[in-house]
Amino acid sequence: KHSSNGSSDDLTFPLEIPPAKIRFTKLFIGGEFVDSVSGKTFETIDPRTGEAIASVSEGDKEDIDLAVGAARRAFDHGPWPRLPGAARAKIMHKFADLIDQHIEELATLDTLNAGKLFSWGKAVDIPSVANTLRYFAGAADKIHGQVLKMSRELHAYTLLEPIGVVGLIIPWNFPSTMFFVKVSPALAAGCTMVVKPAEQTPLSALFYAHLAKEAGIPDGVINVVNGFGPTAGAALTSHMNVDKVSFTGSTEVGRKVMQAAAASNLKTVSLELGGKSPLLIFDDADIDQAADLALLGVMHNKGEVCVAGSRVLVQEAIYDEFVKTLVEKAKEWVVGDPFHPNSRVGPQVDKKQYEKVMSYIEHGKREGATLLTGGKPAAKKGYYIEPTVFTDVTDDMMIVKDEIFGPVMVLMKFKTMEDGIRAANNTRYGLAAGIVTKSLDTANTVSRSIRAGVIWINCYFAFDNDCPFGGYKSSGFGRDEGMVGLQKYLQVKSVVTPLYNSPWQ
Ligand code: NAD
Repeated sequence: KHSSNGSSDDLTFPLEIPPAKIRFTKLFIGGEFVDSVSGKTFETIDPRTGEAIASVSEGDKEDIDLAVGAARRAFDHGPWPRLPGAARAKIMHKFADLIDQHIEELATLDTLNAGKLFSWGKAVDIPSVANTLRYFAGAADKIHGQVLKMSRELHAYTLLEPIGVVGLIIPWNFPSTMFFVKVSPALAAGCTMVVKPAEQTPLSALFYAHLAKEAGIPDGVINVVNGFGPTAGAALTSHMNVDKVSFTGSTEVGRKVMQAAAASNLKTVSLELGGKSPLLIFDDADIDQAADLALLGVMHNKGEVCVAGSRVLVQEAIYDEFVKTLVEKAKEWVVGDPFHPNSRVGPQVDKKQYEKVMSYIEHGKREGATLLTGGKPAAKKGYYIEPTVFTDVTDDMMIVKDEIFGPVMVLMKFKTMEDGIRAANNTRYGLAAGIVTKSLDTANTVSRSIRAGVIWINCYFAFDNDCPFGGYKSSGFGRDEGMVGLQKYLQVKSVVTPLYNSPWQ
C-alpha cells in the first residue's frame, strides 16, 4: 500500500494504531504538574492528519518566573548541587533505567507529535537518550579543578562549580534527543534547570519530567515550561536569575537569544543552530554506497535534521552514473505513516514546516533548477512530501543557500578537490560535512579544509555521546556531547592563598 514517489492514492494514512495514552499535559514546576498561571492551553497536533491530539498548558512570563524561582531555590538551598557526584550519578542511572522501561510509550509520543519513525524511536532514539544520561552520569564524580604552580609564594587551585540555573531551549525535530543532550550534562554538573520544549512537540518532555521525579531528582531541579518562543522562550532568555542559556534552534532565533542575554544579566549562551551541510563524493567512491549515503544524509527524519547533508557535491567523472543510481535508489525512501514498519519518510512536523518546504520546492522550479525526482505532496491528508532531488542549480538559488529542513537535496558537480572544497565552504553555515573517498590523502586534506564542526568520512550521522557536536560560522558556538559539552555547565573558580616557608619555592 505504500509507495515512494508514486501517486498519493496508494498511501494509507493514517495507519490504525491503539489510542495513545497522553498522560501529561500540564507544566512541571517545583516537582508538580500545574496549570499555567493564565489557565491558557494550546493544541498540539498529529502531523499524520493535522488534527489536534491534546491540549497542553501554555506557559508565559509568569510561569517562567515561577519555574526559575523553583530552580533558583533548588540551586541556592537544595541538595542537588551539593551532593557528591556519585550520588547524583546514582539518581541519573535510575532515571535512565526508568526510560528503558517506557521505551514504547515514549517513542509513540514522539511519533504522534513529531511524525518521527516509530521503529527508529524504539530502536535508536529513546534507548540512546537513556545512554546519554548514563554517559554524563559517569562524569558526575570526575569533575575537578587543578592545582596550579604559581610564579610567586602562593598556593592556588581551581574549583569547577556548577554554573547555576540554566535555561534549556530545544527544537522539535529531536524532542527526546535534544532534551537529554542538554539535561544530562546539566544534571551531572549539579545545575538546576528550566526546559522550554518546542511548542510543536511538548509531550515527551513532560513524560521525562514525571520520570525524573520518580527517579528521585529533587523538586525544582528540572522544570518544564511549554509555551511559545516569543513569550515563554523570550522570558527565559531575558531572565535576570538565569545564569546560562543553552539553545538549539534556528540561526534567526539564536541571534535573538544572544541579544536577550546581552540586554539582561549577560548570562552565558551557547547556540546550536542551522546548517546547509555538504556531502562531497569523489570519483574514486563506490557509487552505490555513495548514493545510499547521500539519500540517508538528507532523507533521514524527513530532512528535519540540522546536520542534513542537503548539498551533495559529486566529482565530474562519476556524476552521470551517480545521478542514475541516486534516482533509482530514491524510490527506496518510502513515504508513509511513521508507525508503519516499511515507512522511511514520515510527515513534516506541522503545516507551517510543510508549507515552507513546498514553497522552497516551488522556488527551485521557478529559479530554473531541474527536478530529478519528487517535488510534490505525497498524500492528500497530513504533511507528507515526496523525497525531492534538484540538479542544474546555481550558487545564488535559494534552494542552494537556505536551510530547507525537509527531504530536499540539491545535487552539484565539481572538477578538482580544490573546487569541491570551495563549493563546500560556500555557505554561511558550518555545522557538518561528509566526504566519500577511498583516498586517505583526499580525506585528510578535505576534512581539515572544511569549516564545520563535524566531518564524517565515509559515513554520515555517526553520532556518539563522546563526540563533541556543534557549529562553525553561523551554525553557532559551544559544543554539546563529549566532556567538552559538560564544561559549559561549569565555571572555574580560582582559590589562592599565601604560602610561607616552602623549601621548594
Ligand atoms: P526555532 O529557532 O524556531 O525554535 C527553537 C526553539 O526556540 C523553540 O523551543 C522555540 O519555541 C524557541 N524560540 C523561538 N523564538 C524564541 C525567542 N524569541 N526567544 C527564545 N526562544 C525562542 O527553530 P525550529 O524551527 O523549532 O527548529 C529548527 C531549527 O533548529 C533549524 O534551523 C535547525 O537547523 C536547528 N537545529 C539545530 C540543531 C543543532 O544541534 N545545531 C539541532 C536541531 C535543530
